[in-house]
Amino acid sequence: MTREEVLEKVSKKREEFISWYHEFHQIPELGFEEKETTELICEKLTGMGIHPLRLDPTGVTAYVGPHDAYTVGLRADIDGLRVSEDTDLPFQSKHPGKMHACGHDGHITGLLGAASILKEMESELTVRVKLIFQPSEENTKGAKQIISQGILEDVDEVFGLHLFSFIGKGGHAAKPHQCVDATVMAADFVMNVQTIVARELDPIEGAVVTVGSLKSGTQYNIISGKAVLEGTCRSYSEDVAQHLQDAIRRRAEAVADSYGGNVKIAYEQGSHPPVLNDAALSRRIADEAEQLLENRKLVHIAPLMLGEDFSWYQKEVPGVFAFVGCGTPGRKCYPNHHPKFEVEESALSDGVLLHLAAVVSAMHREKEE
Ligand SMILES: [Zn+2]
Ligand SMILES: [Zn+2]
Repeated sequence: MTREEVLEKVSKKREEFISWYHEFHQIPELGFEEKETTELICEKLTGMGIHPLRLDPTGVTAYVGPHDAYTVGLRADIDGLRVSEDTDLPFQSKHPGKMHACGHDGHITGLLGAASILKEMESELTVRVKLIFQPSEENTKGAKQIISQGILEDVDEVFGLHLFSFIGKGGHAAKPHQCVDATVMAADFVMNVQTIVARELDPIEGAVVTVGSLKSGTQYNIISGKAVLEGTCRSYSEDVAQHLQDAIRRRAEAVADSYGGNVKIAYEQGSHPPVLNDAALSRRIADEAEQLLENRKLVHIAPLMLGEDFSWYQKEVPGVFAFVGCGTPGRKCYPNHHPKFEVEESALSDGVLLHLAAVVSAMHREKEE
């Protein structure tokens, strides 16, 4: 399984990868509803001679390579979003109001592409590969759900990736903005929480408090009796996460009290922990990936406030999560979750190559031992 062979196989299958991507792009489904997607993944795997195992209620796992060998998990998330597609693409979503606006169709393609090549070279594999097509990443429930089904019990290390457009403004909850409304108590609270990060946290610690939605009142001349606010907090450590939760509660109660009102708080603690890459594994996979990506360099990016339930895998086994840039040079680029979000199709092969780099690097690891 030389580098040249891998690169040749990937470039030969380029068009096939793009056509798979188009197929999956047309059938976006929401978390835990990915029935059609699950069936199409199973169909593709079966066509490659790989035996798919369906997860409950959706999602798929499968093995390639020798039994009882060191096992590398490769994970792709498969769900779409409640977004109405607004691109000019000829292969638009056939499911009204739903869209693969986060590139998970490209993640499925990347993992299927890697699977097809690994299957062809199966006799040369000295590690076993476990393919993990995970449902329901967007609502951060999928990883936990399938880990509880024992998915990681026979996995020694895990790799995942995300297509990401690195240009663009707004649209994503992780990019902080202020939301101001006329309803006095809610507005006061919204302003108040803005100073949690500025005044309560160590300036070296990163955190975001975003109120993304504020609904209040029914009509211009009736004083609103109820305001509903929804938001999200992001941070890199569990201590800071706990501090944010305590501070939100304390400040909400203080604001309500000062107006003689009441407040009810539903705080879903830790929808997932922060994604933290294993340092040694990152180096090992990055070394291999740089070779496979030929003259292109990997870049180390500063920590981001995006959420990813890949972190649950990393709680169980050493894991690495990578980004693949998917903007098209010279074309206006929209952020993930935007109705005009598009994936540059050459990024699909990069995704395949990164998955393969994780497997090849694990094979080299065995030789070193
Ligand atoms: Zn997303
Ligand atoms: Zn995503």
